[in-house]
Amino acid sequence: MLSSPNKVSEQVMDIDQFYNDLTRADLKPLWAQTGMLTDEPRDRAIPFRWRATEMARLGERSRHLVPIDRGGDRRVLLCANPGLGGAPAATSTMAAGVQYLGGGESAPAHRHTPAALRFMLTGEDVWTRVDGDPIMMKRGDLVLTPSWTFHEHYNLGKVPAAWVDVIDVPLITHLAGIFYEDGPSDDVDTQTKPASWSEIQFAGGPGLVPTSSSAASTPTPYSPLFVYRWSDTTAALDAQLAAKGTEQAAIRYVDPTRGCDVMPTMRCEALRLRPASATRTDRQTGSRIGAVLNGSGVVVVGSDTFGLSAGDIYVVPSWATHRLESADQMDVFTTSDAPVFEALGVFRRVIVA
Ligand code: FE
Repeated sequence: MLSSPNKVSEQVMDIDQFYNDLTRADLKPLWAQTGMLTDEPRDRAIPFRWRATEMARLGERSRHLVPIDRGGDRRVLLCANPGLGGAPAATSTMAAGVQYLGGGESAPAHRHTPAALRFMLTGEDVWTRVDGDPIMMKRGDLVLTPSWTFHEHYNLGKVPAAWVDVIDVPLITHLAGIFYEDGPSDDVDTQTKPASWSEIQFAGGPGLVPTSSSAASTPTPYSPLFVYRWSDTTAALDAQLAAKGTEQAAIRYVDPTRGCDVMPTMRCEALRLRPASATRTDRQTGSRIGAVLNGSGVVVVGSDTFGLSAGDIYVVPSWATHRLESADQMDVFTTSDAPVFEALGVFRRVIVA
């Protein structure tokens, strides 16, 4: 039976009033929400690449214009993904950028709950102390500053240093888990040692860990080895290429005590492509960031193709297709938030072609 016109207009008034009352009560009708459950991930971050040449030019200007003081603490040019509305974030979960430290400069100690990594590009006699352990940073080295570890940087050399920083600030911000603390002193202790304590303990040899270390018996939630040397990485990649006779080699950096990812929120890997070769096309949930150490080529992300040269940084948003192609031999360091997705049981990765 049809409602009378008066009845219909009463119902419209009722529902309008009902929605107004919901708003006043800070409630939302689920049935009217759109975009909450999409058929696949929709990442606001877009495929992008930042050129080393432009970053180096602007980084050099920053070195002359901006001192390193408490407050900023670090001279970093952060990649701002154009899809993220001007936020200082490379992807939805990770910030990335290049840190510049002139000869004789230092950056004071602090710690924070977001975990960070450094991938060294240029500099001589440059050091990072992690919880008091001095680590020399050489080109291609991966240095970890895990969650809540004190860290400071100092350049005892004459030439300016630059390295890639990646930090999971956006992720920990989304989780409302940011804590930050200055170090005990504004002065940087520019201590040096022939080898860091973490290497003496955990880089003694492949598959060898000390029996006496408390880090080995009561593991931290991150790798107790704070530096992975490029000399080891390049040897491992070369050995793979030689043994397999293939076009590409890849390694994952792992916690030597447990064999898992180096930090709970970041997976780190390195890839070497022989000249004129390509990876498969893949896609995975979560964000990926790549930094080119040597060589040149392109990265194809979704429908975008970006030229790559040494020092360039690129991002692959969640579920975007991705393929690397080399021109000459290319070495790429990558990091991703895959461990987070795996821990939550929502990681997906497929080879597309
Ligand atoms: Fe920091």
